[in-house]
Formats: sequence, C-alpha cells, structure tokens
Amino acid sequence: MRLIITEKNNSAQKIAEILSGGSSTETKSFTVPVFRWSDGEGDHAVIGTGGHFVERAFPEGKEYKQWKLDLIHGLVDAPLITQPSDGKKNVIKAVQKEAKVADSLIIGTDFDREGELIGLEALEVCLAVNPDLEKDFKRARYSALTKEEIEGAFSNLDDLSYPLAHAAGARQDIDLIWGAAFTRAVSLIAKAYGANFLSVGRVQSPTLGLIVERELERRAHVYKPYWELYAKFEHPSGSSFETHHATDKFWDKAEADAALAATAAPGLVKAVTSRKNTSKPPTPYNTNSFQVDASSRLGITPKQAMNYAQDLYDDGFISYPRTDNTIYPDSLPLEKTIAALVKIKDFAAAAPLLDAPLKPTQGKKFDAAHPPIYPTHALYPSALDGPKARVYELIVRRFLATFSSPMITESTRADIEAGGETYFVRGKVVLDPGFAGIYTYARSSDEEIPALEEGQELALDGKPWMVDKETQPPARLSEAKLVQMMDEQGLGTKATRPDIIQKLYSRKYVRNHPPEPTATGMAMYEAFKEYVPGMATSEMTATLEAEMDQIAESDLTKDTVVDDSRKLVHSTFDDLMKGEEALSKIIWAGMDKDRILGPCIVCKEAGRTKEDGSPNMLRIIRAKKSGKSFVGCSGWTADDPEACDQTFPMPQPNFYEVTPLEENCSICHRTPRVNVKTRGRAGRPWKLCFNDDCPTMIEMREKKAERLAAQEAKKKADEAAGKTKTKAKGKKKAPAKKSPAKKRPKTVAASKSAGPDLGTRRVKKAGGRNGPGAKKS
Ligand SMILES: [Zn+2]
Ligand SMILES: [Zn+2]
Repeated sequence: MRLIITEKNNSAQKIAEILSGGSSTETKSFTVPVFRWSDGEGDHAVIGTGGHFVERAFPEGKEYKQWKLDLIHGLVDAPLITQPSDGKKNVIKAVQKEAKVADSLIIGTDFDREGELIGLEALEVCLAVNPDLEKDFKRARYSALTKEEIEGAFSNLDDLSYPLAHAAGARQDIDLIWGAAFTRAVSLIAKAYGANFLSVGRVQSPTLGLIVERELERRAHVYKPYWELYAKFEHPSGSSFETHHATDKFWDKAEADAALAATAAPGLVKAVTSRKNTSKPPTPYNTNSFQVDASSRLGITPKQAMNYAQDLYDDGFISYPRTDNTIYPDSLPLEKTIAALVKIKDFAAAAPLLDAPLKPTQGKKFDAAHPPIYPTHALYPSALDGPKARVYELIVRRFLATFSSPMITESTRADIEAGGETYFVRGKVVLDPGFAGIYTYARSSDEEIPALEEGQELALDGKPWMVDKETQPPARLSEAKLVQMMDEQGLGTKATRPDIIQKLYSRKYVRNHPPEPTATGMAMYEAFKEYVPGMATSEMTATLEAEMDQIAESDLTKDTVVDDSRKLVHSTFDDLMKGEEALSKIIWAGMDKDRILGPCIVCKEAGRTKEDGSPNMLRIIRAKKSGKSFVGCSGWTADDPEACDQTFPMPQPNFYEVTPLEENCSICHRTPRVNVKTRGRAGRPWKLCFNDDCPTMIEMREKKAERLAAQEAKKKADEAAGKTKTKAKGKKKAPAKKSPAKKRPKTVAASKSAGPDLGTRRVKKAGGRNGPGAKKS
C-alpha cells in the first residue's frame, strides 16, 4: 500500500480525487478522514495532518517552569524537547496505523520550509512503527492543487530536503528561546504577572519599533503655517474654473497678501502644455506585493488577505500563496489560463490579449520553488463569499494586467497671468486605459480642463482668495505599509508577518487601524531602545533571518545557528539586567498611562485636583483582595472622608477586551467611554459609557429589553406550536441579581443568553475601597 501524507485535509481529498481519477472514497480512522482507492498499482491512502505533529518545548522541571530572573540563563541553555502537539493524538494514531501496513510513503505537504519540517515530522512518526519505509519514501512538490501540477509532481518525485526542514526547525527553536527568555525577563522586571504578562518576541519587538518611531515623528512634528492662493476664471463657454497660484505654498503671509493684492483681471493664457504619460502594467504578485496590494485596495488586513488566499488555494482556485517569485516560469499554461478566464463575463475585457503573443511583465525576484500567485481555476467571483470573491477577483485582474499594454494618459497644464501673478490649472485624461481596463483599481477618473488657447483673455469670476493651512505630521503606517517595511528590513518571513502584527494588537501594544501604539507599547520600545538596543531594531533579527537562509542552503547547520542565537540571548539578557531599574520604571509609567480612562467630572465640579493642579483621573484599578478590576478616581485616599469615592464596575479584563474610546463621553459628558469586546470571540465590540444614566446606556438597555421580549414571545409561540424540544438539561436559572436600587425593569437582567452583565450599575460605596467585586465588610 502507498501512503501519501499532506498538510491539510482539503489537499488530501483533492489529491486523492485527482490521482484516482475520481474513484477515491472517504473513510475514517480514529475520526481522521482517510481517502482511499485501488488501481493497477495497488492500494493508496491519503491523510491530511492538519499542521505540525509535534512541537518544541522546554523540558520538565521546576527550573524551567518557574518565572525567576536568576533562572533565565539556565532556561536559555535548556535542552529543548519534542512533544506531540495538542489535539494531534488521533492523527498520529491514524497515520501510524496506515504506516504499519504501507510499503511506500510519499510526503505531499506544502512546498515551503514549514511544509518540509511537517514532512520530516510525518516521516519520523511513520518510521517509529515501520522502519522499512526509510528505504522507500519520496517527496511530492506542487504549487497548485490542479490536475497538471499534481500529476506532474507525482510522476516526478523528489527527495525530502533536510536543510529546508532544519531551517524551519531552527526558527521554531530560536523563537521559543527568545520569546520565553525575554517575555519572562521583561514581565518579571516590570512586575506584570499572570494574564498581564508582557510578551516580547524576536521579530515582534522591532516591528513595534517601526510603529512607535513613526508615532514619535508625528509627536515631534512642528505645525508650520502656510498660505495658498486660488482664483476662478470665466471661460467663454459660460462655465468658470478654479486655478491655483504658481507658488505652491507661501511660507510668508506678507508675500501671500501681496500676491493676492496684485492679482487683477483680465487673465491672459500664457502657455498651454500637454504631456503624454505612460504607466507600465504591474508585475506578477508574490506574497509580499499581494499582501500590500490586497490590504490597500480592498481595505482588509494583510492577515485577512492571506487567510482568504489560503482558502482559495485549498479550493484549487489559485496557486500557492507563499512565494517570493515575480517571474512566470516557462512551464505555466499561461495561454490556457487566460482563455479560461476571459470566458467569465467579469473578465471578458481581457479577451483581446489572446490575439497577440503573450508578453508578461517581470518583477525582480525569481524563485524556482513556486510561480507567482496566479489563478488556477476560472470561475465567476459571485460564486464565492464576499471578501473571498474580492480577493479572487483581485488576483485574476492582476494576473490579466501583467499581460496588458501600458496605460496612456495625457496631462495638460495651462498658465494664466493675472496682473503679474501666475495661476495654473491642470487636467488629466486617460487616452488608452491599457492594463487599467482590466485592473480597474488603477484607473483614475478623468479631470478635464476647459479648452484654452495661448493669448486668450479671461475675466476673473469673483475675487481671488487665500486659504491658510499648516503642515501635517506624517501619516501612521498602514498595515500594508508595515508589511512592506518588514520585508525591506528582513523582519519575519512572508508567512509570519501578518501574524506578528496581529500579536501586537492582542498584546495591546497597538490599537485601532492603522495601528497606533498604546502607552505600554511606546514605553516597551523606548525602554528597549535605550537599554537593550538589540531588541529594538531590526539588525539582530535580520542577521538571524539570513543565517536561517544559510541553513536552507546547507551553508550552516541548525545547531550552529541555534547556539549562536543562544549566545545572543545571554548577552542581550545581561544588557537588560544592567538597565533593570530604569527599564522597569519606563514600562511601569507606560502601563500606568494606559490604565487612565479620563478626567473625573465629579472632582472637577467640586474643584478637587491633584497637588500639581492637574485634574483627578478615573482609571482602571485591580482590587487587591478580589483581583477584580474596577474604575476609580485618583482623588481617593483611604483616610480622607472628603476624598472622591467615585467608582464604577467594569467588564472584567480576563473575559473582555476594554479599550478607551472617549476620555469623556461625547453624549452625556459625565464619564469616560470605552469599547468592549468579548475575548476570543468574533463579533462587534460595543460601546460602554460608565454613566448609568447616559442616553446611550438607556437606549442599550431598552434595546436589550426589546430583544428579550421578542425572544420570549418567539419561545411562547414555538411552545404553542408544539415545537419545543424536550426540556433542556437544567432549569434555566433566572439570575438572582441583587440590584441595590431597583431602578431597572426586570427584563433587563433577566437572561444570561442576552449578553453578559456589563456591570453598568453604579456601586454604592460601603466603607473601604475594595472594588465592586469585593466582599462587603
Ligand atoms: Zn474624582
Ligand atoms: Zn455617556
């Protein structure tokens, strides 16, 4: 029997279908799908592993489990072990059951470093039960789940590449050691314990640096005023048009005033010039350019773009989306692909491409492993779901654009002199859309200007005018731009970059889109930059990245590179400890800032301020006794009965992500407002104002009551119709909520299923400040 192991269940099924000519059947082994068929060559079975079988981990032992600064050096040198990945027991059983009776093995995992490593893991799992397979195992490499590619790969079997697998293995080890050592060290130094630990990563921290550096630039920006002049002229056709002064920006108001005063009718057309511009069609997509383009053109994150692309690949609709290549290899069936695509109405505009020899554009990077990303299957985008359809369409249009002609535009500029001052108007018209006819994202709308001739005299339409402006700080980096910069600086790989950005969000170092650093994020980076520069900048991690490439090229061994990185961790950790005290202070200050939600209005009205005269602030506090979080005022002191006792319950951070929205609610102006999102669950965040009487909160309660009433009515109707299933497991308990002041209609707190209690009630103080969750004394 021949056993074939792939990475995903989906690819297992596709490969079985293709190789069996459609006769394969699905069976289950330890709940894992196995696809089987028999032919003249015997029996065949295909299993998808669903990713890694095993993972790297620190060995058992107190010295590796405990978070202590004096154990870090030992942790770094710990001999790493390999253990089964979570939830992989059944897959391993299923694979080993087949391997025992197999007489040959083919590794068909994804064709990249990670896939090679998963392939090596699969091999080891099989050899453990059937050492004879060592003599008869092969590797199938393919870049798309199409008939040609799969048949080609299986009739041209290759060997497993140990250097490639070891390069991926080195990354696993290095990232585990770095992450564990510095996450522990920095969390311990900053006393950020439990769920609030501060994660630090080899690639993550320099990436945060890119975002923070831009933020610092923005904050350092000095707004400089300037002035612009405009004038409107009448055209003989009856319409009038707007012009701009030939001086782009006046930095001196007096000069602008003088030019404005000197502007006088009539305007004389001094020159009309036209210029043709040619824009070249875009180059084929590789992972990086796809992530950047999809993110900016479709308004999705690079991570989402990759997820959709992965789905499209698993469906057999596009080629493998992890590739560096931007040059189509000769082997691609380009003409056939285009012919199939233009039969789809959406892409019919590209049909004329087939009338001439195909001349695709080329990028700079070539990689023999995979082709650039291209569509492997022609279908109507409308057959796919929303965003997936748009990603597929983008890939098809980009592909067709790479064979298209340039776009030709004509820009026209007319200079008009009015009383010694020159004004101009500019227009741009598309003469031949070329590639933009199919790659519609690139097409700009025409801006036509009225027909003008040199020597023509024009009356002013109204008075010329001045607009005062000021220079703007550089924009925040979009996620697309960030991915691009990470690529340029050698941070991460094409496969890992979107996940690393995601991690910055989940660790709360950044928030919003485009990413904006939180005070904690800023502090982490600034502390590293000052005391552990190696962790703040891209150099060190880019060097390691290059060394991993050398493992893949067989120029270095995995052990050498991992040991080198261990040395780097030791010395970097020593640097960190030298700056320990200062570092902790910086990070503390940042985390403290992130806890502040906004000013306390009660204190403001009572005229209470901090000693330095600044306002008392409402901030998130963790009650020592109960561990629960609540919102309290910085103006509170234990022994002063006159001090501010404002407190508000809040959704607990272990279950909800709470991010600041407004320092002071723009509706009621009484308390801060935050966004709340259930952790680890999809769904929209909701806005929470801490003021219970805020109109937004009253509305929210009313809506909730309506929803519940509707649910109740539906339940009753269903019951009446006899549709009720047998009574649920237990009685649905009506939560016995003790509302201190019964001002809420009963329905509001009636059911758990209607959403968690947001804790919007104002808490009556009962003595000390233990927070709402604490036991009342
Ligand atoms: Zn207060
Ligand atoms: Zn409000």
